[in-house]
Amino acid sequence: MPKQNVSVLCVASECFPLIKTGGLADVVGALPLALAQLGVHVSVFLPGFPKVLSGLSETRTLAKLKDFPIANARLVTGKTSTGLNIIALDAPDLFNIKGNPYQTSTGEDRPDNAYKFALFSKIAAEIAAGKYGRKKFDIVHAHDWQAGLTSTYLKIMGDTRVKSIFTIHNLAFQGVFSHSILKDIGIPQSYMSRDQLEYWDKVSYLKGGVVNSDRITTVSPTYALEIQSDSDGMGFGGLLRERGDVLFGILNGIDTDVWNPDTDTEITAQFNANDASQKSKNKAALQKKMGLRIAPDAPLFSIISRLTTQKGLDILSGLTDHVTALGGQLILLGSGDSAIEAQFKQAADKNPNEVSVTIGYDEPFAHQIQAGADAIIIPSRFEPCGLTQLCAMRYGTVPIVGRVGGLSDTIIDANPMALSVGAATGLQFSPINTHMLAATINRAFALYSEPDNWNRLVQNCLNQDVSWDQSAQLYMDLYTSIL
Ligand code: ADP
Repeated sequence: MPKQNVSVLCVASECFPLIKTGGLADVVGALPLALAQLGVHVSVFLPGFPKVLSGLSETRTLAKLKDFPIANARLVTGKTSTGLNIIALDAPDLFNIKGNPYQTSTGEDRPDNAYKFALFSKIAAEIAAGKYGRKKFDIVHAHDWQAGLTSTYLKIMGDTRVKSIFTIHNLAFQGVFSHSILKDIGIPQSYMSRDQLEYWDKVSYLKGGVVNSDRITTVSPTYALEIQSDSDGMGFGGLLRERGDVLFGILNGIDTDVWNPDTDTEITAQFNANDASQKSKNKAALQKKMGLRIAPDAPLFSIISRLTTQKGLDILSGLTDHVTALGGQLILLGSGDSAIEAQFKQAADKNPNEVSVTIGYDEPFAHQIQAGADAIIIPSRFEPCGLTQLCAMRYGTVPIVGRVGGLSDTIIDANPMALSVGAATGLQFSPINTHMLAATINRAFALYSEPDNWNRLVQNCLNQDVSWDQSAQLYMDLYTSIL
Protein backbone atom coordinates (compact mmCIF):
# COMPACT_ATOMS: atom_id res chain seq x y z
CA MET A 1 0.00 0.00 0.00
CA PRO A 2 1.38 3.46 -0.85
CA LYS A 3 2.46 5.17 2.35
CA GLN A 4 0.24 8.19 1.72
CA ASN A 5 -2.89 6.07 1.91
CA VAL A 6 -2.32 4.58 5.35
CA SER A 7 -5.11 5.48 7.77
CA VAL A 8 -4.60 5.30 11.51
CA LEU A 9 -7.04 5.66 14.39
CA CYS A 10 -5.06 6.78 17.40
CA VAL A 11 -6.86 5.91 20.68
CA ALA A 12 -5.96 7.58 23.95
CA SER A 13 -7.42 9.20 27.03
CA GLU A 14 -5.42 12.45 26.73
CA CYS A 15 -4.33 14.75 23.94
CA PHE A 16 -2.63 18.14 24.07
CA PRO A 17 -4.01 20.86 23.81
CA LEU A 18 -7.40 19.47 24.90
CA ILE A 19 -6.64 17.49 28.05
CA LYS A 20 -3.30 16.69 29.65
CA THR A 21 -2.01 15.18 32.85
CA GLY A 22 1.44 14.24 31.53
CA GLY A 23 3.59 13.10 28.67
CA LEU A 24 0.92 10.84 27.12
CA ALA A 25 -1.03 13.94 26.08
CA ASP A 26 2.05 15.54 24.54
CA VAL A 27 2.73 12.43 22.46
CA VAL A 28 -0.86 11.99 21.31
CA GLY A 29 -1.04 15.69 20.43
CA ALA A 30 2.20 15.76 18.46
CA LEU A 31 2.88 12.37 16.86
CA PRO A 32 -0.24 12.44 14.64
CA LEU A 33 0.76 15.88 13.33
CA ALA A 34 4.22 14.56 12.46
CA LEU A 35 2.66 11.49 10.81
CA ALA A 36 0.34 13.72 8.81
CA GLN A 37 3.47 15.42 7.42
CA LEU A 38 4.44 11.98 6.10
CA GLY A 39 1.07 11.62 4.43
CA VAL A 40 -0.66 9.39 6.98
CA HIS A 41 -4.38 10.01 7.59
CA VAL A 42 -4.72 10.12 11.37
CA SER A 43 -7.79 10.60 13.53
CA VAL A 44 -7.53 10.67 17.30
CA PHE A 45 -10.31 9.05 19.35
CA LEU A 46 -10.77 10.54 22.83
CA PRO A 47 -13.23 10.31 25.73
CA GLY A 48 -15.63 13.26 25.61
CA PHE A 49 -14.38 15.03 28.73
CA PRO A 50 -15.78 18.58 28.99
CA LYS A 51 -12.38 20.07 28.08
CA VAL A 52 -12.24 17.86 24.99
CA LEU A 53 -15.70 18.78 23.74
CA SER A 54 -15.32 22.49 24.44
CA GLY A 55 -11.88 22.61 22.81
CA LEU A 56 -13.07 21.39 19.41
CA SER A 57 -14.10 23.47 16.42
CA GLU A 58 -16.06 22.40 13.34
CA THR A 59 -17.92 19.84 15.46
CA ARG A 60 -20.59 17.59 14.04
CA THR A 61 -22.34 14.44 15.14
CA LEU A 62 -20.88 11.39 13.45
CA ALA A 63 -23.30 8.88 14.97
CA LYS A 64 -25.80 8.45 17.76
CA LEU A 65 -24.94 5.32 19.72
CA LYS A 66 -28.31 3.61 20.01
CA ASP A 67 -27.05 0.23 21.31
CA PHE A 68 -24.78 1.86 23.87
CA PRO A 69 -25.59 1.06 27.54
CA ILE A 70 -25.37 4.76 28.44
CA ALA A 71 -28.13 7.19 27.46
CA ASN A 72 -27.55 10.08 25.06
CA ALA A 73 -24.20 8.84 23.83
CA ARG A 74 -22.88 9.96 20.48
CA LEU A 75 -19.70 10.26 18.49
CA VAL A 76 -18.64 13.80 17.69
CA THR A 77 -16.00 14.84 15.20
CA GLY A 78 -14.07 18.09 15.32
CA LYS A 79 -10.68 19.74 15.06
CA THR A 80 -8.19 21.00 17.62
CA SER A 81 -6.60 24.44 17.35
CA THR A 82 -3.46 22.59 16.22
CA GLY A 83 -5.29 20.96 13.30
CA LEU A 84 -5.80 17.42 14.60
CA ASN A 85 -8.87 15.45 13.52
CA ILE A 86 -10.65 14.27 16.66
CA ILE A 87 -13.46 11.81 17.21
CA ALA A 88 -14.85 12.07 20.76
CA LEU A 89 -17.14 9.74 22.67
CA ASP A 90 -19.70 12.15 24.09
CA ALA A 91 -21.32 10.17 26.90
CA PRO A 92 -21.98 12.61 29.74
CA ASP A 93 -22.75 9.93 32.33
CA LEU A 94 -19.24 8.54 31.83
CA PHE A 95 -17.04 11.49 31.03
CA ASN A 96 -18.61 14.65 32.42
CA ILE A 97 -15.67 14.99 34.79
CA LYS A 98 -13.93 18.13 35.91
CA GLY A 99 -10.48 17.79 37.39
CA ASN A 100 -8.21 14.78 37.05
CA PRO A 101 -9.73 12.31 34.57
CA TYR A 102 -8.74 9.20 36.52
CA GLN A 103 -8.76 10.22 40.16
CA THR A 104 -11.07 12.01 42.56
CA SER A 105 -10.00 15.21 44.29
CA THR A 106 -8.88 13.09 47.25
CA GLY A 107 -6.55 11.07 45.06
CA GLU A 108 -8.51 7.81 44.81
CA ASP A 109 -9.05 6.09 41.49
CA ARG A 110 -12.49 6.88 40.14
CA PRO A 111 -14.74 3.89 40.82
CA ASP A 112 -16.06 3.61 37.26
CA ASN A 113 -12.64 3.66 35.52
CA ALA A 114 -12.87 -0.03 34.62
CA TYR A 115 -16.28 0.33 33.09
CA LYS A 116 -15.89 3.56 31.14
CA PHE A 117 -12.47 2.87 29.64
CA ALA A 118 -13.64 -0.59 28.55
CA LEU A 119 -16.61 0.94 26.76
CA PHE A 120 -14.33 3.58 25.29
CA SER A 121 -12.00 0.87 23.92
CA LYS A 122 -14.93 -1.12 22.55
CA ILE A 123 -16.19 1.86 20.58
CA ALA A 124 -12.62 2.48 19.42
CA ALA A 125 -12.51 -1.02 17.95
CA GLU A 126 -15.88 -0.48 16.26
CA ILE A 127 -14.84 2.86 14.76
CA ALA A 128 -11.61 1.30 13.51
CA ALA A 129 -13.61 -1.50 11.90
CA GLY A 130 -15.79 1.06 10.07
CA LYS A 131 -19.05 0.59 11.97
CA TYR A 132 -19.96 4.27 12.11
CA GLY A 133 -20.28 5.25 8.53
CA ARG A 134 -16.60 5.86 7.92
CA LYS A 135 -14.31 3.60 6.02
CA LYS A 136 -12.42 1.17 8.22
CA PHE A 137 -8.99 2.27 9.38
CA ASP A 138 -5.90 0.29 8.35
CA ILE A 139 -4.40 0.53 11.80
CA VAL A 140 -5.66 1.21 15.29
CA HIS A 141 -2.91 2.60 17.49
CA ALA A 142 -3.92 2.42 21.17
CA HIS A 143 -2.04 4.09 24.01
CA ASP A 144 -1.77 2.87 27.62
CA TRP A 145 -4.23 0.88 29.70
CA GLN A 146 -7.16 3.24 29.15
CA ALA A 147 -7.18 2.13 25.50
CA GLY A 148 -5.65 -1.26 26.26
CA LEU A 149 -8.71 -3.37 25.46
CA THR A 150 -9.08 -2.03 21.91
CA SER A 151 -7.28 -4.94 20.23
CA THR A 152 -9.09 -7.40 22.52
CA TYR A 153 -12.44 -6.13 21.25
CA LEU A 154 -11.20 -6.38 17.67
CA LYS A 155 -10.36 -10.01 18.38
CA ILE A 156 -13.76 -10.64 19.92
CA MET A 157 -15.38 -9.05 16.86
CA GLY A 158 -13.31 -11.41 14.70
CA ASP A 159 -11.94 -8.46 12.72
CA THR A 160 -8.53 -9.28 11.31
CA ARG A 161 -8.55 -6.54 8.68
CA VAL A 162 -7.57 -3.78 11.10
CA LYS A 163 -3.99 -4.11 12.37
CA SER A 164 -3.31 -3.08 15.93
CA ILE A 165 -0.45 -1.36 17.71
CA PHE A 166 -0.28 -0.81 21.44
CA THR A 167 2.08 1.73 22.98
CA ILE A 168 3.17 1.49 26.61
CA HIS A 169 3.91 4.95 27.97
CA ASN A 170 4.37 3.73 31.53
CA LEU A 171 4.29 0.10 32.59
CA ALA A 172 3.50 1.14 36.16
CA PHE A 173 -0.09 1.90 35.18
CA GLN A 174 -1.58 -1.49 34.37
CA GLY A 175 -5.35 -0.99 34.54
CA VAL A 176 -5.92 -3.84 37.00
CA PHE A 177 -9.52 -4.50 38.05
CA SER A 178 -11.73 -7.21 39.51
CA HIS A 179 -12.62 -9.86 36.93
CA SER A 180 -16.28 -9.37 37.81
CA ILE A 181 -16.15 -6.43 35.35
CA LEU A 182 -16.03 -8.81 32.36
CA LYS A 183 -19.75 -9.55 32.38
CA ASP A 184 -20.54 -5.81 32.22
CA ILE A 185 -18.24 -4.96 29.35
CA GLY A 186 -19.08 -7.68 26.84
CA ILE A 187 -15.90 -9.73 27.23
CA PRO A 188 -16.45 -13.51 27.47
CA GLN A 189 -15.43 -15.22 30.72
CA SER A 190 -13.03 -17.34 28.66
CA TYR A 191 -10.78 -14.25 28.49
CA MET A 192 -10.13 -14.69 32.20
CA SER A 193 -7.18 -16.92 31.32
CA ARG A 194 -3.43 -16.62 31.69
CA ASP A 195 -2.88 -16.20 27.98
CA GLN A 196 -5.47 -13.41 27.91
CA LEU A 197 -6.46 -10.80 30.49
CA GLU A 198 -5.96 -12.69 33.75
CA TYR A 199 -3.43 -11.01 36.02
CA TRP A 200 -3.01 -12.35 39.55
CA ASP A 201 -6.69 -13.35 39.72
CA LYS A 202 -7.79 -9.97 38.37
CA VAL A 203 -7.85 -8.57 34.86
CA SER A 204 -5.34 -6.11 33.40
CA TYR A 205 -6.35 -3.87 30.50
CA LEU A 206 -2.68 -3.23 29.76
CA LYS A 207 -2.21 -6.96 29.39
CA GLY A 208 -5.00 -6.98 26.81
CA GLY A 209 -2.96 -4.55 24.72
CA VAL A 210 0.20 -6.60 25.17
CA VAL A 211 -1.25 -10.00 24.27
CA ASN A 212 -3.72 -9.07 21.54
CA SER A 213 -1.99 -6.34 19.53
CA ASP A 214 -0.01 -7.07 16.37
CA ARG A 215 2.85 -4.86 17.53
CA ILE A 216 3.82 -3.32 20.85
CA THR A 217 5.88 -0.19 21.17
CA THR A 218 7.25 1.74 24.06
CA VAL A 219 8.74 5.16 24.20
CA SER A 220 12.49 4.61 24.22
CA PRO A 221 14.88 1.83 23.19
CA THR A 222 16.36 1.44 26.69
CA TYR A 223 12.93 1.21 28.33
CA ALA A 224 12.00 -1.46 25.77
CA LEU A 225 14.89 -3.54 27.13
CA GLU A 226 14.32 -2.68 30.79
CA ILE A 227 10.69 -3.81 30.77
CA GLN A 228 11.69 -7.25 29.50
CA SER A 229 13.66 -7.88 32.68
CA ASP A 230 12.25 -9.39 35.86
CA SER A 231 13.57 -6.49 37.92
CA ASP A 232 12.01 -3.67 35.87
CA GLY A 233 9.19 -5.56 34.15
CA MET A 234 6.74 -4.85 36.99
CA GLY A 235 5.19 -8.29 36.67
CA PHE A 236 5.20 -8.18 32.86
CA GLY A 237 8.85 -9.06 32.26
CA GLY A 238 8.24 -12.66 31.24
CA LEU A 239 5.29 -11.82 29.00
CA LEU A 240 7.17 -8.97 27.32
CA ARG A 241 10.16 -11.26 26.73
CA GLU A 242 7.78 -13.72 25.06
CA ARG A 243 6.52 -10.89 22.86
CA GLY A 244 10.00 -9.43 22.39
CA ASP A 245 9.98 -10.06 18.63
CA VAL A 246 7.09 -7.62 18.17
CA LEU A 247 8.16 -5.08 20.82
CA PHE A 248 9.94 -1.92 19.65
CA GLY A 249 11.34 1.08 21.53
CA ILE A 250 10.79 4.31 19.60
CA LEU A 251 11.96 7.49 21.24
CA ASN A 252 9.42 10.25 21.83
CA GLY A 253 9.90 13.71 20.41
CA ILE A 254 8.21 16.97 21.37
CA ASP A 255 6.13 19.44 19.40
CA THR A 256 8.79 21.97 18.50
CA ASP A 257 6.15 24.54 17.58
CA VAL A 258 4.53 24.39 21.02
CA TRP A 259 8.00 24.37 22.59
CA ASN A 260 9.80 27.03 20.60
CA PRO A 261 11.80 29.64 22.55
CA ASP A 262 11.93 31.78 19.42
CA THR A 263 8.17 32.28 19.25
CA ASP A 264 7.02 31.46 22.79
CA THR A 265 4.69 34.22 23.96
CA GLU A 266 4.64 32.93 27.56
CA ILE A 267 8.27 33.89 28.16
CA THR A 268 9.86 37.30 28.79
CA ALA A 269 12.50 37.29 26.05
CA GLN A 270 12.58 35.05 22.99
CA PHE A 271 15.80 33.36 21.92
CA ASN A 272 17.01 30.58 19.67
CA ALA A 273 19.92 28.25 19.06
CA ASN A 274 21.81 30.89 17.06
CA ASP A 275 21.59 33.49 19.79
CA ALA A 276 20.62 32.49 23.31
CA SER A 277 21.93 35.66 24.95
CA GLN A 278 18.39 36.67 25.89
CA LYS A 279 17.97 33.60 28.06
CA SER A 280 19.42 35.53 31.02
CA LYS A 281 16.46 37.95 30.89
CA ASN A 282 14.14 35.02 31.41
CA LYS A 283 16.19 33.94 34.40
CA ALA A 284 15.94 37.40 35.98
CA ALA A 285 12.20 37.54 35.27
CA LEU A 286 11.71 34.13 36.84
CA GLN A 287 13.69 35.05 39.95
CA LYS A 288 11.67 38.25 40.25
CA LYS A 289 8.30 36.56 39.71
CA MET A 290 9.02 33.97 42.39
CA GLY A 291 10.54 36.39 44.90
CA LEU A 292 13.98 34.83 44.66
CA ARG A 293 17.20 36.81 45.05
CA ILE A 294 17.94 38.31 41.64
CA ALA A 295 21.31 36.69 41.10
CA PRO A 296 22.54 36.22 37.53
CA ASP A 297 25.45 34.08 38.72
CA ALA A 298 23.58 31.74 41.07
CA PRO A 299 22.92 28.45 39.28
CA LEU A 300 19.13 28.15 39.09
CA PHE A 301 17.98 24.51 39.26
CA SER A 302 14.41 23.60 38.36
CA ILE A 303 11.90 20.78 38.70
CA ILE A 304 8.70 20.44 36.67
CA SER A 305 7.14 17.14 37.54
CA ARG A 306 4.64 14.89 39.12
CA LEU A 307 5.93 14.65 42.70
CA THR A 308 6.17 10.90 43.06
CA THR A 309 8.69 8.28 44.06
CA GLN A 310 8.91 7.24 40.37
CA LYS A 311 10.33 10.68 39.67
CA GLY A 312 12.82 10.35 42.58
CA LEU A 313 11.73 13.62 44.09
CA ASP A 314 11.80 12.20 47.58
CA ILE A 315 15.56 11.92 47.03
CA LEU A 316 15.88 15.50 45.85
CA SER A 317 13.67 16.94 48.60
CA GLY A 318 16.40 16.11 51.12
CA LEU A 319 19.01 18.04 49.14
CA THR A 320 17.56 21.56 49.03
CA ASP A 321 19.94 22.77 51.76
CA HIS A 322 22.82 21.20 49.86
CA VAL A 323 21.92 23.25 46.76
CA THR A 324 21.50 26.54 48.60
CA ALA A 325 24.64 26.04 50.72
CA LEU A 326 26.62 25.90 47.49
CA GLY A 327 25.05 29.17 46.34
CA GLY A 328 22.39 27.72 44.07
CA GLN A 329 18.66 28.30 43.84
CA LEU A 330 15.81 25.88 43.31
CA ILE A 331 12.45 26.44 41.66
CA LEU A 332 9.79 23.74 41.63
CA LEU A 333 6.45 23.33 39.87
CA GLY A 334 4.53 20.14 40.46
CA SER A 335 2.06 18.21 42.50
CA GLY A 336 1.50 14.70 43.75
CA ASP A 337 2.57 12.84 46.85
CA SER A 338 1.59 14.97 49.85
CA ALA A 339 4.67 14.03 51.89
CA ILE A 340 6.98 15.16 49.07
CA GLU A 341 4.94 18.34 48.58
CA ALA A 342 5.25 19.10 52.31
CA GLN A 343 9.02 18.61 52.33
CA PHE A 344 9.56 21.00 49.45
CA LYS A 345 7.13 23.56 50.91
CA GLN A 346 9.06 23.44 54.16
CA ALA A 347 12.29 24.12 52.28
CA ALA A 348 10.72 27.14 50.56
CA ASP A 349 9.34 28.48 53.85
CA LYS A 350 12.77 28.16 55.42
CA ASN A 351 14.64 29.87 52.62
CA PRO A 352 12.20 31.90 50.50
CA ASN A 353 14.93 33.94 48.79
CA GLU A 354 16.58 30.83 47.37
CA VAL A 355 13.85 28.19 47.05
CA SER A 356 10.48 28.63 45.32
CA VAL A 357 7.83 25.90 45.38
CA THR A 358 4.56 26.03 43.46
CA ILE A 359 2.20 23.13 44.02
CA GLY A 360 -0.04 22.77 40.99
CA TYR A 361 -0.17 22.26 37.26
CA ASP A 362 0.55 25.31 35.11
CA GLU A 363 1.50 25.00 31.44
CA PRO A 364 2.59 28.65 30.83
CA PHE A 365 4.66 28.63 34.03
CA ALA A 366 6.36 25.42 32.85
CA HIS A 367 7.48 27.33 29.74
CA GLN A 368 8.78 30.24 31.85
CA ILE A 369 10.77 27.89 34.05
CA GLN A 370 12.27 26.09 31.07
CA ALA A 371 13.25 29.44 29.56
CA GLY A 372 14.75 30.89 32.74
CA ALA A 373 16.40 28.01 34.60
CA ASP A 374 20.01 26.96 34.12
CA ALA A 375 19.36 23.28 34.78
CA ILE A 376 16.49 20.87 35.35
CA ILE A 377 16.78 17.95 37.75
CA ILE A 378 15.03 14.67 36.83
CA PRO A 379 16.18 12.03 39.34
CA SER A 380 13.71 9.36 38.16
CA ARG A 381 13.98 5.81 39.48
CA PHE A 382 12.52 4.70 36.16
CA GLU A 383 11.55 6.82 33.18
CA PRO A 384 9.95 5.35 30.03
CA CYS A 385 11.07 8.34 27.95
CA GLY A 386 10.61 11.62 29.76
CA LEU A 387 9.67 14.78 27.91
CA THR A 388 10.77 17.50 30.30
CA GLN A 389 14.43 16.88 29.46
CA LEU A 390 13.59 17.29 25.76
CA CYS A 391 11.73 20.55 26.41
CA ALA A 392 14.65 21.66 28.60
CA MET A 393 17.21 21.08 25.85
CA ARG A 394 15.04 23.01 23.41
CA TYR A 395 15.23 25.96 25.87
CA GLY A 396 18.96 25.60 26.61
CA THR A 397 18.36 24.29 30.12
CA VAL A 398 20.81 21.57 31.07
CA PRO A 399 19.21 18.27 32.22
CA ILE A 400 20.58 16.47 35.28
CA VAL A 401 19.04 13.01 35.06
CA GLY A 402 19.05 9.50 36.45
CA ARG A 403 20.63 7.05 34.00
CA VAL A 404 17.43 5.09 33.33
CA GLY A 405 15.10 4.46 30.39
CA GLY A 406 14.64 7.32 27.97
CA LEU A 407 16.74 9.66 30.09
CA SER A 408 19.81 7.56 29.30
CA ASP A 409 18.84 7.53 25.60
CA THR A 410 18.45 11.29 25.29
CA ILE A 411 21.16 12.87 27.46
CA ILE A 412 24.91 12.58 26.90
CA ASP A 413 26.74 12.81 30.21
CA ALA A 414 29.34 15.53 30.58
CA ASN A 415 32.13 13.08 31.34
CA PRO A 416 35.66 14.18 30.43
CA MET A 417 35.58 12.41 27.06
CA ALA A 418 32.18 13.81 26.04
CA LEU A 419 33.32 17.26 27.13
CA SER A 420 36.54 17.01 25.18
CA VAL A 421 34.77 16.02 21.95
CA GLY A 422 32.07 18.61 22.62
CA ALA A 423 29.20 16.14 22.68
CA ALA A 424 27.84 16.47 26.22
CA THR A 425 24.26 17.66 26.76
CA GLY A 426 23.74 17.12 30.48
CA LEU A 427 24.65 15.11 33.54
CA GLN A 428 23.63 11.55 34.32
CA PHE A 429 23.92 9.60 37.54
CA SER A 430 23.46 6.03 38.65
CA PRO A 431 22.53 4.35 40.93
CA ILE A 432 19.60 6.55 41.85
CA ASN A 433 20.23 7.59 45.44
CA THR A 434 20.86 10.70 47.51
CA HIS A 435 24.60 10.29 47.53
CA MET A 436 24.93 10.05 43.75
CA LEU A 437 22.48 12.91 43.16
CA ALA A 438 24.38 15.12 45.62
CA ALA A 439 27.65 14.26 43.88
CA THR A 440 26.11 15.08 40.50
CA ILE A 441 24.79 18.41 41.75
CA ASN A 442 28.37 19.12 42.89
CA ARG A 443 29.56 18.26 39.37
CA ALA A 444 26.99 20.70 37.97
CA PHE A 445 28.28 23.47 40.23
CA ALA A 446 31.84 22.74 39.10
CA LEU A 447 30.84 22.89 35.43
CA TYR A 448 28.81 26.03 35.98
CA SER A 449 31.87 27.73 37.42
CA GLU A 450 33.69 27.11 34.11
CA PRO A 451 31.68 29.28 31.68
CA ASP A 452 33.32 27.77 28.59
CA ASN A 453 32.22 24.27 29.53
CA TRP A 454 28.80 25.31 30.73
CA ASN A 455 28.05 27.46 27.71
CA ARG A 456 29.11 24.58 25.49
CA LEU A 457 26.65 22.31 27.29
CA VAL A 458 23.88 24.87 26.84
CA GLN A 459 24.71 25.26 23.16
CA ASN A 460 24.79 21.49 22.62
CA CYS A 461 21.35 21.25 24.22
CA LEU A 462 20.01 23.96 21.94
CA ASN A 463 21.45 22.17 18.91
CA GLN A 464 19.73 18.84 19.62
CA ASP A 465 16.96 17.67 17.32
CA VAL A 466 14.18 16.91 19.80
CA SER A 467 11.41 17.00 17.19
CA TRP A 468 9.28 14.08 16.08
CA ASP A 469 10.87 13.97 12.63
CA GLN A 470 13.02 10.87 13.05
CA SER A 471 10.66 8.93 15.30
CA ALA A 472 7.57 9.61 13.20
CA GLN A 473 9.43 7.98 10.34
CA LEU A 474 10.08 4.92 12.53
CA TYR A 475 6.36 4.67 13.36
CA MET A 476 5.62 5.06 9.67
CA ASP A 477 8.00 2.18 8.90
CA LEU A 478 6.30 0.08 11.58
CA TYR A 479 2.85 0.83 10.14
CA THR A 480 3.84 -0.10 6.63
CA SER A 481 5.62 -3.25 7.84
CA ILE A 482 2.38 -4.74 9.20
CA LEU A 483 0.09 -3.80 6.34
P1 ADP B 1 5.06 11.92 32.92
O1 ADP B 1 5.58 10.63 33.48
O2 ADP B 1 4.45 12.76 33.99
O3 ADP B 1 4.19 11.76 31.73
P2 ADP B 1 6.91 13.24 31.08
O4 ADP B 1 8.25 13.84 31.31
O5 ADP B 1 6.80 12.19 30.04
O6 ADP B 1 6.39 12.71 32.49
O7 ADP B 1 5.89 14.38 30.68
C1 ADP B 1 5.52 15.38 31.57
C2 ADP B 1 4.85 16.51 30.82
O8 ADP B 1 3.99 17.19 31.72
C3 ADP B 1 5.83 17.54 30.32
O9 ADP B 1 5.26 18.20 29.18
C4 ADP B 1 5.91 18.52 31.50
O10 ADP B 1 6.31 19.80 31.11
C5 ADP B 1 4.49 18.50 31.97
N1 ADP B 1 4.31 18.78 33.40
C6 ADP B 1 4.55 17.96 34.45
N2 ADP B 1 4.19 18.54 35.61
C7 ADP B 1 3.72 19.75 35.28
C8 ADP B 1 3.18 20.85 36.04
N3 ADP B 1 3.07 20.78 37.36
N4 ADP B 1 2.77 21.93 35.36
C9 ADP B 1 2.89 22.01 34.02
N5 ADP B 1 3.38 21.03 33.25
C10 ADP B 1 3.79 19.92 33.87
